[in-house]
Amino acid sequence: MPNILDGNRVRDQILRDLAPRVAALAGRWRPPGLAVILVGNDPGSQIYVRNKVKACAELGIAGSSLTPRASISTEELLAIIKDLNCRPEVDGILVQLPLPAQIDSRRVLLAVAPEKDVDGFHPMNVGNLVAGRPGPRPCTPAGIMELLRQYGIPVAGKRAAVVGRSDIVGKPMALLLMHANATVTVCHSKTVDLPAVCREGEILVAAMGRPAILTAEHIRPGAVVIDVGMNRITDPAEAARIFRNSPDRLATLERRGSVLVGDVDPQAMREKASAYTPVPGGVGPLTIAMLMSNTVTAAESAFAREGKSP
Ligand code: NAP
Repeated sequence: MPNILDGNRVRDQILRDLAPRVAALAGRWRPPGLAVILVGNDPGSQIYVRNKVKACAELGIAGSSLTPRASISTEELLAIIKDLNCRPEVDGILVQLPLPAQIDSRRVLLAVAPEKDVDGFHPMNVGNLVAGRPGPRPCTPAGIMELLRQYGIPVAGKRAAVVGRSDIVGKPMALLLMHANATVTVCHSKTVDLPAVCREGEILVAAMGRPAILTAEHIRPGAVVIDVGMNRITDPAEAARIFRNSPDRLATLERRGSVLVGDVDPQAMREKASAYTPVPGGVGPLTIAMLMSNTVTAAESAFAREGKSP
């Protein structure tokens, strides 16, 4: 039986490790502060933001959400960020993506002060990542590295295939694996013979947003498979094909009208991988935990800039 890589367990450990750091800051100075900006009323984004603010409260971080209207202009949003950049009690600023079409997302991400950029999306922090210099790392790939570390999965010298080249997941994932001395191949929609390239991967990271598109032919026997995909499906025929041996998941679809599936066929993963992250309960829980971690680190840096150390 392959090892199931339990993201909830790793998240809990990350949060346990953060608790004394938060307490030290709160005791000697003030609690870390995170401001989350949610533009508009997208229900999915509202849930993400609510969960982020809830995680802050549970850890003792001063979390707040700002919810400007969906029709806000780029200039108005930039003014909000400028104000947050100047607020001493705010250590981290997160702009929930995607932004409405009228907003110039690049200008917005560029406006967040690099030292408050807890998502690691500011070009300066992207540069720090590329150069292997300290700085906040994008939360989802950083969480995956922590999961590999906590499970004692060796990375150095391994062949890794990363499928997906987004700025949020694929690219930073590939860079983090490379810095950890894996030999990395990055795949995308134009990759020729994707199954053969994926099969090279002793570590296979799937970040495409395509339900169960990677099948047994993509998985090297014994590979460690990290499934980042979060796809909600509603079609009973598609669900019956993907969850052919998982009546509990089909029951979820019947009960809720939708069911979550990753980018990797779950049955193929169980049959061929030596270890894998399930969906849900694998990569998902790690992202918010790493956001908390980046916020605490940003607060410690702010504290140090005041000439103190926690
Ligand atoms: P994205 O920006 O849409 O990027 C998708 C990438 O996959 C692109 O590079 C694209 O290639 C590639 N791709 C798409 N179809 C492909 C195919 N058939 N063959 C090979 N490559 C293909 O997505 P993202 O933001 O990186 O997110 C990816 C998935 O991860 C989504 O399901 C998202 O919901 C999930 N996610 C989960 C978490 C979490 O916390 N668990 C966090 C972030 C994202 P091109 O560049 O050639 O178009």
